[in-house]
Amino acid sequence: MDPRELEARYCARNYDPLPIVLARGAGAHLWDVDGRRYIDMMSAYSAASHGHAHPRILAALEAQVRRLAVPSRAFYNDRLGPFLAELCRLAGLDMALPMNTGAEAVETAIKAARRWGYRVKGVARDRAEIIVAEGNFHGRTTTIVGFSSEPAYRDGFGPFAPGFRAVPFGDLAAVERAITPETVAVLVEPIQGEAGIIMPPAGWLAGLRALCDAHRVLLILDEVQSGLGRTGAWFAFQHEGIRPDGLVVGKALGGGVLPVSALVGTGELMGVFTPGSHGSTFGGNPLAAAVGLEALHVIRDEQLVERSRALGRHMLERLRAIASPVVREVRGLGLWAGAEIDPAFATAREACERLLAKGVLSKETHDTVVRLAPPLVIAPDDLDLALDRLEEVVREIELARRPRAA
Ligand code: PMP
Repeated sequence: MDPRELEARYCARNYDPLPIVLARGAGAHLWDVDGRRYIDMMSAYSAASHGHAHPRILAALEAQVRRLAVPSRAFYNDRLGPFLAELCRLAGLDMALPMNTGAEAVETAIKAARRWGYRVKGVARDRAEIIVAEGNFHGRTTTIVGFSSEPAYRDGFGPFAPGFRAVPFGDLAAVERAITPETVAVLVEPIQGEAGIIMPPAGWLAGLRALCDAHRVLLILDEVQSGLGRTGAWFAFQHEGIRPDGLVVGKALGGGVLPVSALVGTGELMGVFTPGSHGSTFGGNPLAAAVGLEALHVIRDEQLVERSRALGRHMLERLRAIASPVVREVRGLGLWAGAEIDPAFATAREACERLLAKGVLSKETHDTVVRLAPPLVIAPDDLDLALDRLEEVVREIELARRPRAA
């Protein structure tokens, strides 16, 4: 049976994949089952920032899987400490708690913030509130979708946990108005990825830091997608010279081969965890830790942060130079951009299907945004080729369509 039919028959339809069956990947390239090569312009939502099948990450994975993979945290292992020490050093924070997926690390942050609220700040039992941003994406658990503003993520999954208050993204005054004596944390993405690469006003993070300090509220940043070089800094918060109290990392931390995530934080925040208060069978396993440490070292040794900054500047310049009414806006930072397609001409899905036909893989986010987030290792020529193809697609759409509203 055709793999697509088989998947449609046996896999729940929680995704709507583009019509391509992938079979192999290397660097910024992916191949389908017929051997056709594509340029990857989305890197698995930043999980494949190192490119596919990075030789050093595969070597670390292979060596470690033969030594020891999953003994559980019932025992110490010789790989977890070195991994978390390096992660804390890079983040400028004190301690970390390892998990697997991004959503689990966000849940860890929520638990940490609440317990800090009760035990350190002195908030009355079960009264803690966390301020979040409208348009957020932090994962798919029931607690997390409960404070999403996207109906598709929530519909049919209630009842939801209380204790969250949403304010417009980028609006400092709204955050200040929402703070009460029971507020324990502000939890936001520095740039909203799934919402469509939405950039806050300059100074937003620095402003949040000052507000949080003034009101004794924790600043927790979800850098699952923006972290580890994506925006041209190790972490997006570094663009504004601040330090969060808690930092959620995932995706690229697993080097494109494993789910590896963590909450990294100050000693005061991470000190709220006591034995038995939180855990994960797979979190912090030596295989994940060995891969995670190598993923960090590869970013450092291959200067992927600097590369993201330089290639990202080039990508954004080229995208902004596309003079077409089809592209309403281009937003982004580093090797991370969203091109807003005017729905009068086409959906972003149609643009992605046209890109696919030209050998470039991307995925729309919402109906109007084509997301461009290639592996940070992408060769400049491949990046230019992908951008050439995007320009062609924009011209095709412009020629094929009068605006749909006209
Ligand atoms: N936080 C952010 C900012 C994300 O972009 C995502 C995934 N797109 C998550 C959390 C959830 O990560 P995961 O899918 O690994 O649970």
